[in-house]
Amino acid sequence: MKYHSTSVENLINELKKLPGIGQKTAQRLTFFILSIPKKEAISLAHAIVRLKERTKQCKICFNVSDEEICNICRDERRDNSIICVVENSWDVIALEKSRQFKGLYHVLGGVLSPIDNIGPDDIRIRELLYRIKKGKINEVIVATNPNVQGDATAIYIAKLLNPLGIKATRIARGLPVGGDLEYADEVTLGKAIQGRTEII
Ligand SMILES: [Zn+2]
Repeated sequence: MKYHSTSVENLINELKKLPGIGQKTAQRLTFFILSIPKKEAISLAHAIVRLKERTKQCKICFNVSDEEICNICRDERRDNSIICVVENSWDVIALEKSRQFKGLYHVLGGVLSPIDNIGPDDIRIRELLYRIKKGKINEVIVATNPNVQGDATAIYIAKLLNPLGIKATRIARGLPVGGDLEYADEVTLGKAIQGRTEII
């Protein structure tokens, strides 16, 4: 593709690196940004810089946070005897919207996937065990996505927890198979949490 401006070409190339953005969308977004007032474009650029400079991972649950410890982990009204294990930070947002879960979270940062060479040491399983051994945890709900990798990760975690006498449960199968948590509505997610079953 030949563009008549290196600046236009540069932004298209940067946007193309984003997931789900192909050449055409990148091009459309670039020309959209070109058309908006300078102030708005700068505000967009600043939001990206700010995101990278100010956010960190919560030291306890690894959720994205502006503080060392996130506001969920800091909230004393939450039940600290139950941990919900999720793949990513956006799953926390989805589950919080359902308002059915009042415990704490643990963000794995992925799931086990031998095909992609992702083993237990590549996701935060060790950190989860450390938390469990340190705290007074009674139950761990594994809320990884309902697919092969998500299920395998749940079983792996349950096998580690059983000898420790900690109940490992899996969210109910109300979710569409293969559908990610983030696409499920609040009611479905709430029901999936309520209807969780023990992983044997
Ligand atoms: Zn936290």
